[in-house]
Amino acid sequence: MLDAEFFRRWMSATADAVDREAGRLTELDSAIGDADHGSNLQRGFAAVAAALEKERPATPGAVLALAGRQLISTVGGASGPLYGTLLRRTGKALGDDSEVTPGKLAAALGAGVDAVAQLGGAKAGDKTMLDALIPAAGALGESLSFGAAREAADEGALATVPLQARKGRASYLGERSIGHQDPGATSSALLIGTLADTAE
Ligand code: ADP
Ligand code: MG
Ligand code: MG
Repeated sequence: MLDAEFFRRWMSATADAVDREAGRLTELDSAIGDADHGSNLQRGFAAVAAALEKERPATPGAVLALAGRQLISTVGGASGPLYGTLLRRTGKALGDDSEVTPGKLAAALGAGVDAVAQLGGAKAGDKTMLDALIPAAGALGESLSFGAAREAADEGALATVPLQARKGRASYLGERSIGHQDPGATSSALLIGTLADTAE
């Protein structure tokens, strides 16, 4: 069973991973965007970690809801509302249980990913964060294995390289977006990777 402490550790591990990888995320965003994805998420997840430390929400759903609200209010770029929606919607789907099963988390994450697709109007293959999140949620739902979700997210992020961007800033580049890995798919693979690390 996964309790509030597990979800706090996941968010804090994500803040650390984003700090470590900020340079790479910004470099990817400088190729097909505006070179701020690393700093956007660093600011956002630092606020998440600080808010969770201060408020210590008591349930998994409340941890993710608070994290999502922090991302929406502190990240200016497209990724803030999208990641904020992912976490808020996932948190809402977890309800107010004090512990949840991996199966319940898989279903909730699926609902969160659907909400991101609805908010941003993107689908699989548009070269966005969804290209890591959709396969990750699918793999978790099928296998209930966090390791399998991590592998699916990593593969999904890598598979964005040959795609042409259809949504977000990168889409302004048209065919010139081909040949670069999507920054948001890369950070989504980090988020799923830290979930797997936390479960180990
Ligand atoms: P901005 O583009 O506003 O500077 P970021 O650099 O923080 O924001 O985030 C860019 C990432 O957001 C992209 O790499 C992509 O994965 C994701 N993204 C952008 N638009 C969408 C969308 N409509 N749907 C899903 N993801 C999107
Ligand atoms: Mg950007
Ligand atoms: Mg920007």
